[in-house]
Amino acid sequence: MDEIAKARMAQVLHHRKAGLGVGEPVVPVISVATTFHLPEVQGAAHVYGRSGQPTWDAVEAQLAILEAAEVVAFPSGMAAISAALTACLRAGAKVMIPSDGYYVTRLLGRDFLAVYGVQVVEVPTAEMPEADFTGFDVIYVETPSNPGLDVIDIAAVVARAHAAGAKVIADNTTMTPLLQRPLDLGADLVVAADTKAPAGHSDALFGHVAGRDANLMARIREGRRQSGSVPGPFEAYLVHRGIETLELRLARMCSSAAVIAERLAGRPAVRGLRYPGRAGDPSHAVAMRQMVNGGFLIGFELADEAEAEAFLAACPLIEQATSFGGVHTAGERRARWGDAVAPGFIRLSVGIEPTEVLWAAIAAALPGRKA
Ligand SMILES: *Cc1c(COP(=O)(O)O)cnc(C)c1O
Repeated sequence: MDEIAKARMAQVLHHRKAGLGVGEPVVPVISVATTFHLPEVQGAAHVYGRSGQPTWDAVEAQLAILEAAEVVAFPSGMAAISAALTACLRAGAKVMIPSDGYYVTRLLGRDFLAVYGVQVVEVPTAEMPEADFTGFDVIYVETPSNPGLDVIDIAAVVARAHAAGAKVIADNTTMTPLLQRPLDLGADLVVAADTKAPAGHSDALFGHVAGRDANLMARIREGRRQSGSVPGPFEAYLVHRGIETLELRLARMCSSAAVIAERLAGRPAVRGLRYPGRAGDPSHAVAMRQMVNGGFLIGFELADEAEAEAFLAACPLIEQATSFGGVHTAGERRARWGDAVAPGFIRLSVGIEPTEVLWAAIAAALPGRKA
């Protein structure tokens, strides 16, 4: 973690007390009220549950510190992505999205945005730096991309996009605001699935949009009220609790991932290793400029589907599940979802298990082929 992230994390852990009266609870309440005492409307902090409520406020306050920006919370990462895109686009507009990014974002582009007259152009993350942005309204980046882990230079994309009159939206899910700060690099909006590392325990769906343009954020907040795309108070509570340990969990996850990536590189059965934190990775130079560390995701290929499935089944410390960022190390073959990767490609999300115990389990499950 760098100094900025550390300072913001410490502030997250203590910011509530300034607003507390004597005897008030230290943690936020799980407020289930749909409606609020309203003998008069003037000065009411909350009016109706769809417009805003105390438990969302608590999470938005934490995320606002981490993002150094205004934050609007959503019931999932996709809800946040939909809200950000629809706030910035209209019929006839043009958006560029990564062809190698989160697949549901691509589906949203094809099945909904395109239907409403938005022109959606898919470009591989690795080719975006050279792509022509002329005529685009939004350039949407995901870096590192999920699952390929290609990294794009956010500041460079922002400079070219703004020169072309386009806004930049960055999906920061794979990094979280502690490991990468796209808004500081000039992005107009950050979207993220807090379902992943921020919630961190595979038990809550949640998302947020962050931005520093008050008008745009007001439109996104109003969009939440009108679409009714609102988070639940229990989920908000779980995410609030998760964020308090985010830095601690990430520290273990990322340091383990760096060790494991290095050791995987030395195994003859492993090919196509991707870990942006590792010297020699195609993304390393850009990653080190804009990311605090290499993150907790590793991509690699085994020979084929059978070998990859055998490895996943043989390793007792890999949860065979989709999603990432949880406390349990998880892995899956992404080709099973139709991602454009080799049949033996595995995305590994490194969890918080003690590093050497985890590595021993992974090493024992890998195919023992000699070079
Ligand atoms: C998981 C994910 C999402 C969607 O988040 P949900 O909370 O599942 O809706 C969006 N972008 C990326 C990069 C993701 O990994």
